[in-house]
Amino acid sequence: MDKLNSQNVVDLFVIGGGINGCGIARDAAGRGLGVELAEMNDLASATSSASTKLFHGGLRYLEYFEIRLVRKALIERETLLKAMPHISWPMRFVLPYHQDMRFEGDTPTSKILNVIMPWMKGRRPAWLIRFGLFLYDNLGGREILKGTTSLNLATTPEGAPLQDRFKKAYEYSDCWIEDSRLVVLNARDAEARGAKINVGTKVISAEQVEGVWHITLEDRETSKRRLVMAKMLVNAGGPWVGDIINNTVRINATDGVRLVRGSHIVVPKLYDHDKCYFFQGEDGRIIFTIPYETDFTLIGTTDADHADASEKPVCTPEEQEYLVSFASNYLKKPITTQDIVWTYSGVRPLYNDGASSATAATRDYVLKVDTSAGAPILNVFGGKITTYRRLAETAMKEISAFFPKAGNPWTAGVALPGGNFPVTGVDDLIGQLKNTYAFLDARWATRLIKAYGMDAFEVLGDAKSPEDLGRNFGASLTAQEVSWLVQNEYARCAEDIVWRRSKLGLRLTKEEINAIDVWMAEEAQKRPD
Ligand SMILES: Cc1cc2nc3c(=O)[nH]c(=O)nc-3n(C[C@H](O)[C@H](O)[C@H](O)COP(=O)(O)OP(=O)(O)OC[C@H]3O[C@@H](n4cnc5c(N)ncnc54)[C@H](O)[C@@H]3O)c2cc1C
Repeated sequence: MDKLNSQNVVDLFVIGGGINGCGIARDAAGRGLGVELAEMNDLASATSSASTKLFHGGLRYLEYFEIRLVRKALIERETLLKAMPHISWPMRFVLPYHQDMRFEGDTPTSKILNVIMPWMKGRRPAWLIRFGLFLYDNLGGREILKGTTSLNLATTPEGAPLQDRFKKAYEYSDCWIEDSRLVVLNARDAEARGAKINVGTKVISAEQVEGVWHITLEDRETSKRRLVMAKMLVNAGGPWVGDIINNTVRINATDGVRLVRGSHIVVPKLYDHDKCYFFQGEDGRIIFTIPYETDFTLIGTTDADHADASEKPVCTPEEQEYLVSFASNYLKKPITTQDIVWTYSGVRPLYNDGASSATAATRDYVLKVDTSAGAPILNVFGGKITTYRRLAETAMKEISAFFPKAGNPWTAGVALPGGNFPVTGVDDLIGQLKNTYAFLDARWATRLIKAYGMDAFEVLGDAKSPEDLGRNFGASLTAQEVSWLVQNEYARCAEDIVWRRSKLGLRLTKEEINAIDVWMAEEAQKRPD
């Protein structure tokens, strides 16, 4: 095993390449700290590619009086949108109202309503929803996004896909985010600012020796091990945060995570307009239907306790049935499990605050610095994609005593790679790309801009025709794009490319995906070690 000499002690070693690990690595590197990160699989291979993909305040958390969390997230939406207008965009949410909509039984709001309006028997009154949306519009930082409006479903296109019993709806704003691309862009920016990013690299153990962490890493492909030394550890292991505390670092910490599985289904496009629906169930839960990847609709999510991080989350037949019948309660043309073309599932690593149900457990993050081993470790619990940048800033504040020379907060207002253009500039950029590369059709150009933003020009280079981009693997994915992803975005296999750097897996056959793997393996052979 290679042993590094003590001059090679990095300031911060981050375990985990999800959004929280990559966000902290970027922030810390930009403040001048020496940073290294290890991700045992692909970047965003766990929870950070399995979200509902919303930068949102979380309307339903208002019923739990999580005002601080909602305000923080609402303010953050527009800060993030401005820094990444290629992978994030505003979306309108239509919330149909019906008198049978109920609260989950144990929210603080439902308890109060049960006392002052017992005749409602747990139903959500319309004025309460309107009041919640008023707060949502006004709690913080809304300059770009449109406020709430009312809709008459009988006369508007938004009513067409819904059953006739829905007469009235509210419409409000949140933002879409390409979650797995967000992670990769943070990793790229961290690297550009000096961080070292290792993928396919598991942290096997970390021991404290005379105030320095000795961290053993294993390359998952070659099983080769090496040692890295660091002044401080960041445990951003998501669902594995507790496992890392107990088995990798072996310290005694009382805080823990509650693992809550959430699943989504994807079906062929259910309606023509570009808005989402926010459906409330009779069980107090809510689901979204979201226009997805041009030709599909994304439906989710569920909330179920999940026993163990090592158990791969899957969307169970019961969850599929639940989502299908929930949505069909609203839709004029019901859907069935036969319509499902893809499912995905992730585990929320929520801070265990002792809440009675999975739905009620707090979505806010908790950061704990532990020095019981001698050298310091920061454990990250919970959080939302929406608050990742704030979480990273808070993490830097928590560890500032150990790094007094670290720079000031800097990430608000600084664009991620490819995102240095105005929020309203997407259409112009698509037009510019089409003008520069006349062989692109509208769909291809749009896909490239919404993935790479300004970097789309670099991806296409000096190509004059589709042939100049090399082999076409299907769905406009070319050899040149695959190579660019390998060189610039840590992609190592077809799955990284078709499910996390893009969602082209929805359009490619198994054979086409296998062909990408074969081609990538051949190209890897040609590269010098
Ligand atoms: C169903 C669902 C819907 C959601 N929807 C939203 C939403 O719409 N909006 C929103 O803001 N938030 C949403 N969230 C929350 C959000 O997705 C999570 O809070 C966030 O992704 C957690 O990121 P993370 O970096 O903490 O964890 P992860 O993304 O899980 O990253 C942890 C990483 O650590 C790695 N790792 C673990 N152990 C080791 C080790 N020993 N060595 C090396 N690497 C290791 C893992 O491989 C993993 O990649 C949703 C979550 C779920 C599950």
